[in-house]
Amino acid sequence: MKFALLMTFIMLNMLFYGLLINYSSSLKTEIAYVMVENQNLKQAMEGLEQEVSNRELMFSSEGKKYPFPINSSDFMKLSSPYGIRISPITNTLKNHLGVDIYTRVPRSQVIAIADGVIVDSWPPPGKSKDGSKYYSGHPVYGGMVKVRHDDGSIALYGHLSAKYVSLNERVKAGQVIGREGSTGKSTAEHLHFELKIDNEYVNPLLWIATPSTGENSG
Ligand SMILES: [Zn+2]
Repeated sequence: MKFALLMTFIMLNMLFYGLLINYSSSLKTEIAYVMVENQNLKQAMEGLEQEVSNRELMFSSEGKKYPFPINSSDFMKLSSPYGIRISPITNTLKNHLGVDIYTRVPRSQVIAIADGVIVDSWPPPGKSKDGSKYYSGHPVYGGMVKVRHDDGSIALYGHLSAKYVSLNERVKAGQVIGREGSTGKSTAEHLHFELKIDNEYVNPLLWIATPSTGENSG
């Protein structure tokens, strides 16, 4: 009788610790899950904060160093702001190194924002063709022009459908250097614009004056 009682006691103990171990391991999984969730939320929050500050910057031209790379009469909206965003295609967070500028009319003129020299240009000479698609363009940017300005900053204009300048050529602020398009990795007509200051990517909206005629991208 005593033995049976002892066995019951031991078995109950084993059951209790078994449950406890089980519980603690599922608790650990739960904690890990919550931590990952927390990290995701943090990233999403950062993305949102970026988005809000981008929106605040969108329609202000105060104190901006450079003009807009598209004529204000052609400008329609800004979309896909600089920084962390949620990719609509993969639904993952990714870094967008520039801003996307949409125009009212396809193939609107693209303008150099400052005096400088062309330091990269796609497609290369001989393969250049003024058309709606550059199959020989840069794999990502398609028709592309990169300008190193006299002040050291670098601007990149991507997805161009036409290009009026070539490597090592000097350009002036306000000069038409090409036309926007949907070449390279692009799903719709727009100008992808990047800006580097001191060789670091910056939010172009902090530096270029945004026309006030645009509508909100929503
Ligand atoms: Zn873009």
